[in-house]
Amino acid sequence: MSAVISNIIEGSIADDLKLNIGDEILTINGNHINDIVDYRYNINDEYIEITVRSDNETLIFEIEKDYDDDLGIEFEDIIFDKLKTCGANCIFCFEKQLPKTMRKTLFLRDDDYRLSFLNGNYITMANLTQEDIKRIITQRLSPLYVSIHTVDDNLREKIIGRKFKPVLETINKLTSHGIQLHTQVVACPGINDSEELINTIDTLSKYYPNILSLAVVPVGLTRYRENLPKITPYTKKTAQKVLDIITEKQKNLKKKLGTNFVWASDEFYIKAKRELPANHHYEDYSQIENGIGLVRDFLTDAKKIIKRINNRYIKTKKSFTLITGVSFYPYLKEIISGITNDQITFNLIPIKNDFFGHTVTVTGLICGQDIINQLKDKEIGDYLVIPEVCLLEDELFLDDLTVSDIEYALNTKVIIGKPYLSDTFKILTNIK
Ligand code: SF4
Repeated sequence: MSAVISNIIEGSIADDLKLNIGDEILTINGNHINDIVDYRYNINDEYIEITVRSDNETLIFEIEKDYDDDLGIEFEDIIFDKLKTCGANCIFCFEKQLPKTMRKTLFLRDDDYRLSFLNGNYITMANLTQEDIKRIITQRLSPLYVSIHTVDDNLREKIIGRKFKPVLETINKLTSHGIQLHTQVVACPGINDSEELINTIDTLSKYYPNILSLAVVPVGLTRYRENLPKITPYTKKTAQKVLDIITEKQKNLKKKLGTNFVWASDEFYIKAKRELPANHHYEDYSQIENGIGLVRDFLTDAKKIIKRINNRYIKTKKSFTLITGVSFYPYLKEIISGITNDQITFNLIPIKNDFFGHTVTVTGLICGQDIINQLKDKEIGDYLVIPEVCLLEDELFLDDLTVSDIEYALNTKVIIGKPYLSDTFKILTNIK
């Protein structure tokens, strides 16, 4: 991988310099450019010198510009050198719970602080070198997203399966230089979720606001766990215990810090059969990508839109089948039951995850073959709505089936549902 140009914005500095798609940026001001962060950091100057490889020729350009002027270049990738992989061996690693026949890219175990900064990917920090830490501080790569699991180094070593510097030492180093962190604990019943969780919350909350938040998510287990330590899935009772700890801590932290600081993922409430907290509980929803408040946020949007749907004039009658994961089904069912506009009908079907096993109930891990098998004898109506979250890029499911495969197998037309129901309804009600 290298800094290969994939697009040049018309009228930009790069356009004026007549750079081409396929050209490669080698250095900026003599510095090697390893990723998009390096690129952005190094172009922030009033005078820059860039070295470019174009058609086997090396060219040097001197550029005078305003300090924060962009060059108008887009790249094929955001990481130009090698992706940093984890070298860890976590007892719950999802990659190790996949069938061996799955596509190679799913087995890529990244643990790259640059992706943590750019995309919010969680890292263990176990592979951070002194150079990496120096760079994070110099380039202010903040906030980062860090998997803590526990602040007890011996236990953490057992959980992530490799040796590392004491985790608080790295946290101290980063936070004392102004780097903020969002953190998470992947909770495993009986391993890091009782006294140990209390200790982790107490320790990390002392770093607030340098540590901005702590998400507690339950371990995900598929039916392909082989030669891995035994971990039991969460039950109603064990999920309730975790929620009790978190709720108690939130009460104290809210008083002390003005923030809940620690949040349990939606899955804990669903497993524990407890009501989801209200909208304000999630404050700025800073860990929504991690499943913290995702359902509440969806429901808040959905409730606003239902009235509008019911009052809307829809010329032609249409019928849709909507699919969802088992855990989200009751929430969506309640929303759908509020639709009284008889020009539009919905048939909601929960898809059981036969592919990964029935302990997996989230919508995001639904595979194409389960949709085909479970809908093949059902009346679908005019369209089948598949949530976008089930798909990787190129409309591909985790099991390599495509949206076109589903359309062909079920002889139906598919519409991709958006994360918010209001956006999905805009698409559905605008179909001619
Ligand atoms: S850090 Fe752990 S969970 Fe993440 S990819 Fe590596 S082994 Fe898997």
